[in-house]
Amino acid sequence: MSFRREKFVPKGGPDGGDGGRGGSVIFVADSQKNTLIDLAYQQHHRAKRGTHGRGSNQHGKGADDLHIHVPPGTVVHDAETGDLLADLDSPAATWTAAEGGRGGRGNARFLTNANKAPTHWEEGQPGEQRWLKIELKSIADVGLVGFPSAGKSTLISAISAARPKIAAYPFTTLQPNLGTVEYDMNRRFVVADIPGIIEGAHQGIGLGLRFLRHIERTQLLVHVLDLDPLTGRDPLEDFDVLNEELTAYDEKLGQRPQIVAANKIDAEGAGENLAELQAALGKRDIVVFAISAKEGRGVAELLDEVEKRLREIGTEDSEEAP
Ligand code: GDP
Ligand code: MG
Repeated sequence: MSFRREKFVPKGGPDGGDGGRGGSVIFVADSQKNTLIDLAYQQHHRAKRGTHGRGSNQHGKGADDLHIHVPPGTVVHDAETGDLLADLDSPAATWTAAEGGRGGRGNARFLTNANKAPTHWEEGQPGEQRWLKIELKSIADVGLVGFPSAGKSTLISAISAARPKIAAYPFTTLQPNLGTVEYDMNRRFVVADIPGIIEGAHQGIGLGLRFLRHIERTQLLVHVLDLDPLTGRDPLEDFDVLNEELTAYDEKLGQRPQIVAANKIDAEGAGENLAELQAALGKRDIVVFAISAKEGRGVAELLDEVEKRLREIGTEDSEEAP
């Protein structure tokens, strides 16, 4: 509330300006992001309040909106009711989580013929506030599964522009990495490198469970096996153990179509492992694609098969380029 005060104007009119609008809290899908880890650390987000209105009809400044950047594939539920509120599945998608409060009105607004000196003003409205449950679902068409160090990250580097960390020890990949495969001029699909699924993952042991969620939405799995005798793995056993884990976690996941990619064919002695694997899986009518993710051998044939299978599945998620 304010009145104009000037020399020689004994009774100036009301000139209290309006308060500024409070900022809104807005979610933005940002392809630079690939985890929700920031939200785990900072759970409260509050946009700034608007500034007060002042005399001389000065309106308060509206506050800037607060943008929370989340990876595409982020799904938001109301924490209390569980209602689905937003599915930020495409980059740059936005969703207003909490609307900023409207600024109050200064007494200048209440000037009428009947009341030339209103002392009345209106308080600003509080902004919205709510509790949300925020989850990340993969929006990939194809999920890469396999034991740690099988070569999933190497494969995704070979077929897309994604550059995940690659190392010879397990659990280097602590987040799923999404890569877009430009198959040809008018065909591309998204592949997710899913971090190592370990034995017992379905029971929540280790890091497995959290990551299994990322393959729930994929259409097709590429099961990467390690043929290198030096790593001491048994590819056939790995294949069965991992499939049991998938089924134990979710029956449907166990039944998801799979392509078997036997990796590290370039390694010494890998040929014998391959022959054994092919013989064993051949009995079950499972075709094995032999590849070297590192050298690129067999990768084109693997992608041909992925593309063909995706077409057969008729995936809605794999995009046709415009
Ligand atoms: P991930 O844990 O499944 O993602 O496996 P990485 O892609 O990080 O690879 C694990 C290790 O295997 C790294 O040292 C890679 O260089 C190696 N590797 C991956 N692909 C191949 C391959 O085709 N041939 C050989 N010889 N080594 C590979
Ligand atoms: Mg990896």
